[in-house]
Amino acid sequence: MTSASPAALTPADRPTPRAGALAIEAYVPGKSKAPAGVKLHKLSSNETPLGASPRAIEAFRDAAGHLEIYPDGSSTALREAIGRAYGLDPARIVCGAGSDEILSLLAYGYLAPGDEGVFTEHGFLVYRIAILAAGGVPVVAPETNLTADVDAILACVTERTRIVYLANPNNPTGTYLPFDEVKRLHANLPGDVLLVLDAAYAEYVRANDYAAGIELVSGSENVVMTRTFSKVHGLAALRIGWMYGPAPVVDVLNRIRGPFNLSAPAIAAGAAAIADRAHLDASVDHNARWLATLTGEIRALGLEVTPSVANFVLVHFPETPGRTAAEADAFLTARGVILRAVSSYGLPHALRLSIGSEEANRAVLDGLKAFLSADARG
Ligand SMILES: *Cc1c(COP(=O)(O)O)cnc(C)c1O
Repeated sequence: MTSASPAALTPADRPTPRAGALAIEAYVPGKSKAPAGVKLHKLSSNETPLGASPRAIEAFRDAAGHLEIYPDGSSTALREAIGRAYGLDPARIVCGAGSDEILSLLAYGYLAPGDEGVFTEHGFLVYRIAILAAGGVPVVAPETNLTADVDAILACVTERTRIVYLANPNNPTGTYLPFDEVKRLHANLPGDVLLVLDAAYAEYVRANDYAAGIELVSGSENVVMTRTFSKVHGLAALRIGWMYGPAPVVDVLNRIRGPFNLSAPAIAAGAAAIADRAHLDASVDHNARWLATLTGEIRALGLEVTPSVANFVLVHFPETPGRTAAEADAFLTARGVILRAVSSYGLPHALRLSIGSEEANRAVLDGLKAFLSADARG
């Protein structure tokens, strides 16, 4: 079964990846397993408890009858549905296999080896991966109160800066920048720096001073906005994201992307999902209610919760033995309640909790209560 061992090549003679590739710490997704015999409440990946729209599921099933046919390489039906939902020109939209793909394509398109890409201290980890994979140099801007800081970002910009990624709201902190601040960031960036507004959680935000960035993209040549179907639309398994951008940026992404980067079932299900306003509204309402309830009740237990505008909250634990984030994680996991450890985001004393179903949310509150009242001797 096994072939002879390969002739021993010295490392220098083996295929060598580009510099950057081995500097990447592979992304570790949220856990998804509960111990045997315990009901699983997966609250580790910001997935919606409402599931996908029934119309999206039906479109996905219909697509199963034609799996031998290549998809439409331009995702036309999906771009048109997005255009209708947001009043956008479909020609200025590019779809991707998740917004992760778009974030990577932007790095490949705009970074040459040695060019710098900026993101914030507790920003989404995919930015670092995308920059390194493209041969670029990641530059981290400090945050203030777990929130992006425009002056700190601007202070990181050098002649080598080509791209700035801003998650707004940010994952895993749940904090956001008011639109005035985003505009101030843009106004002070050189015109040859691409500003990427990652608005993966935009639908959930109810703050009056927030905007996802459509207006800024429409009026600028160096701003794009990315969105996803993985969160509020409940289609994470299908991998669908999109970007709205200036025509020249759209053109670059259409040249470098794979010719069939979205599957036909994804195109069909995404188009159906974005047209289902009622499902979207129900998801947002459920979230608003439970975001407030969980934030209040967890604070009442004596834990600090970062104010969030998204579909998750960051819960902070003391460093006291018996009460730490790592111990809480283990305690809750044993009860089937799976949160997200965020040490890789520089937050070793916190856990991120996605807003779940009522049953899951109650299980978290019960679990935290039990954890905090357990004998602290450990
Ligand atoms: C979840 C998330 C995404 C979306 O990723 P997909 O590849 O579309 O599933 C993008 N940005 C942030 C900040 C996220 O948390």
